Amino acid sequence: MLTYHTVILGAGASGLFCAGSFAAPKIILDHNQVPGVKVGVSGGGKCNFSNTSVTAADYLSQSKHFCKNALAAFKPTDFTALLNRANVSYEERSHGQLFARNAQDIVRFLVSRAQAQHTDFSLKTEVLDVQKQNDGFIVRTSAGSIQAQYVVLACGGLSYPALGASALGAKLARQLGLSLIDQRPALCGLSVPKELRARCKTLAGNSTLAQVSTGKHTFTEQLLFTHEGFSGPAVLPISLFCNEGEKVRMNLLPQTDALALFYAHKNTSKKMSAVLPLPGKMAAVWLGELDKPLANATKADLEAAAKQLTDFEFIPTATAGYTKAEVTAGGIDTRQINPSTFEVKTVPGLFVIGELLDVTGRLGGYNLHWAWASGYCAAQALAQKI
Ligand SMILES: Cc1cc2nc3c(=O)[nH]c(=O)nc-3n(C[C@H](O)[C@H](O)[C@H](O)COP(=O)(O)OP(=O)(O)OC[C@H]3O[C@@H](n4cnc5c(N)ncnc54)[C@H](O)[C@@H]3O)c2cc1C
Repeated sequence: MLTYHTVILGAGASGLFCAGSFAAPKIILDHNQVPGVKVGVSGGGKCNFSNTSVTAADYLSQSKHFCKNALAAFKPTDFTALLNRANVSYEERSHGQLFARNAQDIVRFLVSRAQAQHTDFSLKTEVLDVQKQNDGFIVRTSAGSIQAQYVVLACGGLSYPALGASALGAKLARQLGLSLIDQRPALCGLSVPKELRARCKTLAGNSTLAQVSTGKHTFTEQLLFTHEGFSGPAVLPISLFCNEGEKVRMNLLPQTDALALFYAHKNTSKKMSAVLPLPGKMAAVWLGELDKPLANATKADLEAAAKQLTDFEFIPTATAGYTKAEVTAGGIDTRQINPSTFEVKTVPGLFVIGELLDVTGRLGGYNLHWAWASGYCAAQALAQKI
């Protein structure tokens, strides 16, 4: 039987970064044909790998303080220092988002860094189960069994099965006696009630700047109409914070006083939609029967149209689901994990990192930063055990 110091399950963002951050002989297993598949397509092929400002407030978790240690131990500048040393180009975009020039540069950086730290790769390998022994673990796989003193679960969430995501992490966690916070797709589009869907379908593919809110969270970004409802940067973060049955509010004219604009054109023969700064036929479709010639419109007509544009409410019927979600919210309950080492409190020698944990970042590079920070902390702890 093969024997290693550590077996890492998952050659994704967190597993690769962890593997490259400590020097023990280790093997990293993945059922994909190549490592880092999701990283390689992330950020639209440019990999939004971190953000200039990362704080605990950028993450959603049942345990609000859990992520603080790791974020303090591994900062965005720690990652960019490594990229600088490896001559990997990147740039800062709006809202402090840090993007690579090419996501494949990040994958190559992660893989070569792992290889330099005594990492073997076993790809196209299905993990069957993990058994705790008196001293260490046996990992049974489609390529045979491996014995190791330490195991790192880095197998991610359920989002984007086409890129390799599976329920492996949740299954192994339960087998090893861990409990999970309910998992759900997040950072994805929202489906809307039937009466609204026809309008969204007509406008599918069009986008505009909008202010979208749920509870205390508000995002002013591009809103994209889809066949099912809404998506785009203004809506993806809403899917993270919106609980089932909760209202979403929308302002399609965050920089315009619609009512004032209507009154400014009140004596013209123009229709309401004709004076609004919305692209193409968006205003006419969105207003529908409320779109009247301004000269004939009553005060109530004008107010109803302005409300429809700037203070619109709906309750999402569903999210776009795991096939289109960027991340999985929920996951292994972090109360079972040491926040400094990422070792499972009840199973010494077992570590959990990355998206499999109940820590979900908002849009903007926070999820990959969490993969690096959690992988780094586990590696520091494993380095102490060599
Ligand atoms: C399309 C898309 C774009 C994204 N863009 C960004 C972005 O720009 N910025 C950002 O911060 N976040 C982004 N994310 C989220 C980010 O990629 C993830 O949060 C991050 O990759 C999680 O790292 P991880 O190591 O926990 O999991 P992953 O990177 O998903 O790695 C898990 C690994 O486990 C392997 N695995 C799973 N099941 C099995 C099994 N049964 N047997 C063997 N191996 C298995 C998988 O193949 C995978 O390689 C994006 C996500 C998607 C889907």
